[in-house]
Amino acid sequence: MKKLILTFASIMSEDQIQILKQELSTPKKIVIVPHNNPDGDAVGSVISLHGYLCQLGHQVSMISPNDFPSFLKWLENSDLFINYEKESQRCDALINEADLIFNLDHNALHRTGAMESILKEAKTTFVMIDHHQQPDDFAQFIFSDSSMSSTCEMIYHFLEMMNDTDKINSAMATAMYTGILTDTGSFKYRSTTSTTLRVAANLMDKGADGEAINRKIYDVNTPSRMKLLGVALRNMVILENYRTAYITLSQKELNDNNFKKGDTEGFVNYALSLDGIVFAQIFIENESEAIVKTSLRSKGDFDVNQLARDNWEGGGHKNAAGGKSDLSMTATVKKLISILPAYKNELRDVVI
Ligand code: 5GP
Ligand code: MN
Repeated sequence: MKKLILTFASIMSEDQIQILKQELSTPKKIVIVPHNNPDGDAVGSVISLHGYLCQLGHQVSMISPNDFPSFLKWLENSDLFINYEKESQRCDALINEADLIFNLDHNALHRTGAMESILKEAKTTFVMIDHHQQPDDFAQFIFSDSSMSSTCEMIYHFLEMMNDTDKINSAMATAMYTGILTDTGSFKYRSTTSTTLRVAANLMDKGADGEAINRKIYDVNTPSRMKLLGVALRNMVILENYRTAYITLSQKELNDNNFKKGDTEGFVNYALSLDGIVFAQIFIENESEAIVKTSLRSKGDFDVNQLARDNWEGGGHKNAAGGKSDLSMTATVKKLISILPAYKNELRDVVI
């Protein structure tokens, strides 16, 4: 099939939309995949697209590389996800039989963790819908726009292009609203445009309850998560010369505070919220994978996507990226300290 790169930033030709419509006009076996460690945007986009494709009469499976946080498990149909870590053989069979595979909220197959090798081998048509920078070249249909707030906003625009926004039911609207809410930091980040807000408003009209979604996502702290946050804040180191703050959490500190997936979500933002700080990084030890997972956040024009690509085997967006280190925690922090001088002028010049 001819390769199509469709960016929402440019006006898509009617022909391009028609080819995909044609593909979806007869019943297909479809698999939808989010990235490893799926967040609100990944889970929300998969659930909403699943709702749409089921209405078109397709046989649709949602396969997640691994589990997702419990604060997303109230979403309608979130129980239909198949966890690749738990049922890899069943998932491999579904992938090998699929006519179409949608990759959502990631633009490189290595972001699907343990699913990378089976997806690389799959001889089928891939559709990527994603808002990260620098997409890889694995899909026949690429819907990529790094100016978008979230993949969930892109799903809404995708449905607009398909002339099918009337198919958005309240479960789909709730899932999309959730992804937009979480990926924009509650409509705070620069990626939140007037269009993002119009999409969110339309989703409310279609049944998304903004107050309830906010409460179910953010007002579900556990005492152990709050204690872990206390440890993280105590461990925070401020490097005023570099307008940088970083946080470490060791495996022991996680264990001592009954760590559950998702508990450290948002911790790095406390470091970034310091007045004058323009770059924040958190390092979280993961003994079972023998890595230190890291999240990077920035203000203004300081590009953590590039920094993560160059130093931490990762990437993401200009102001929010992730990555990892194979070194010990001590050596990882030393590495950060050794990297910073190269960015000193850039960090000094950030205008906020
Ligand atoms: P987080 O720090 O919340 O895990 O991720 C922040 C952003 O960077 C998210 O948009 C996420 O998808 C992206 N991201 C996280 N880890 C990686 C990674 O290893 N590689 C790439 N390319 N993006 C990542
Ligand atoms: Mn996203």
